[in-house]
Amino acid sequence: MTERRFAQFKLVLLGESAVGKSSVVQRFVKDSFSDFRESTIGAAFLTQTVDIDDTTTVKFEIWDTAGQERYRSLASIYYRNAQAALVVYDITQKASLDKAKYWIKELQKQANSDIIIALVGNKTDLQDQREVSIEEAQSFAQGMGLLYFEVSAKTGQGVKECFKQIAVKLPIEESLKRR
Ligand code: GDP
Repeated sequence: MTERRFAQFKLVLLGESAVGKSSVVQRFVKDSFSDFRESTIGAAFLTQTVDIDDTTTVKFEIWDTAGQERYRSLASIYYRNAQAALVVYDITQKASLDKAKYWIKELQKQANSDIIIALVGNKTDLQDQREVSIEEAQSFAQGMGLLYFEVSAKTGQGVKECFKQIAVKLPIEESLKRR
């Protein structure tokens, strides 16, 4: 039997306050959801693994902003060595997509040039309150060369798939060689 290979990557979360960043991570890491707001202050990061095939597992080290989205720019230490970023907006808040576009520009200025960026529209369970169409967000993401997903942290729809799609894009062979 061949030994399973583990490749670890740092993923940062960005997006306007209350779009559901922590909830998306909670769904991915604990497969649960809570309606009340939990403080993100505490643990520096959470980890979760994704098996991408029979022999390889990607381990995500997920960094939450812990409320720092209020500041115009995050400390460069937050971006440092991040190989992936989840930029989250709320499909029921048009302004949160504008904020996501701002964070994407920041990442493209400050983060590693080969970082994998996923634009993620959260709260798809609230279809009747939708303010951002799939077409609008998707065409923006395509134009910028980003991955694009719609998810619901509440129902879990799309969450695992989103992390899996990011995992398969990561430079796994390079990461294993470096160790
Ligand atoms: P953060 O500030 O971006 O980390 O946002 P939170 O994860 O704290 O979520 C903000 C609020 O939105 C909380 O009241 C959550 O319960 C709610 N929320 C998060 N994700 C969803 C979702 O997919 N659907 C719905 N209906 N509410 C959500």
